[in-house]
Amino acid sequence: MKVFLYDEGVGEELNIEEIARYLRQKLGKAEIELRGNLFSFNLSRGRAEDYAGKIASSKIPEVGREIVAGQELLYGEIEYEKRRISGKTRAFGILYDGFHLQRVFRQMIPGEELRLDFAHIIFTNRLLATWDDSNKKYHLRTSIYGIPSLVSTTGLVEAPAKPRDYYLIKQQYESLGKDLTELKDRFKGSFIDYEDKRLTEVAKGYAMQAVFYSLTGNPFCQDKGCRLYNAHWQEELIFAQLESDYEFCPRHSRLLEKA
Ligand SMILES: [Zn+2]
Repeated sequence: MKVFLYDEGVGEELNIEEIARYLRQKLGKAEIELRGNLFSFNLSRGRAEDYAGKIASSKIPEVGREIVAGQELLYGEIEYEKRRISGKTRAFGILYDGFHLQRVFRQMIPGEELRLDFAHIIFTNRLLATWDDSNKKYHLRTSIYGIPSLVSTTGLVEAPAKPRDYYLIKQQYESLGKDLTELKDRFKGSFIDYEDKRLTEVAKGYAMQAVFYSLTGNPFCQDKGCRLYNAHWQEELIFAQLESDYEFCPRHSRLLEKA
């Protein structure tokens, strides 16, 4: 197996080299390759700018409406994505359809490398969501697994729910016009926040989920203490990735020994 790691705008938030070292340590037989910036590693497959329109068309204007292919774009939207690709701006407050974006990024990977035993993992700071047809709404995602797999740093902060009390007290703070930084201090450590020092450690577990997707077709585990646990709450994420006494459950540990 081969694992390729790409940086799509995460910059210093995440130490991808440290994640590569971790994967090398866990996957003795696999080859791990750092490819740096997604848009600069393989420019022969089209200029980075040509992807701006495709990326812009993956944006979600309304969380209650599924986006369709070929939606009309404004000039400014494409220009924004060009600046974003060249690192001149950072995407904040924009939501992207995770599956659309995955298809766009897939086009940037050489065809002969689109193999099930190759794990392409793209660390992005774009906020991703996927459409849920049962309640007709987009839902935030930490990651999207497939070829390639996407792990979102903003998703790790925003997608898993914070403690219930946080939302209650936040409402009180807002209605009283109180400073929200004080609220964050009160809940310090109980969720992953922006510029959180624990982000790289957490992302290692999500990289492993992508690896297991390639190995077995299933990135997840039911065991709450296993790093492959699909956390819906921040406290579950913190337990699975940082606090559990073991990294992987017995079954996944055995699978790793063979990988
Ligand atoms: Zn497990």
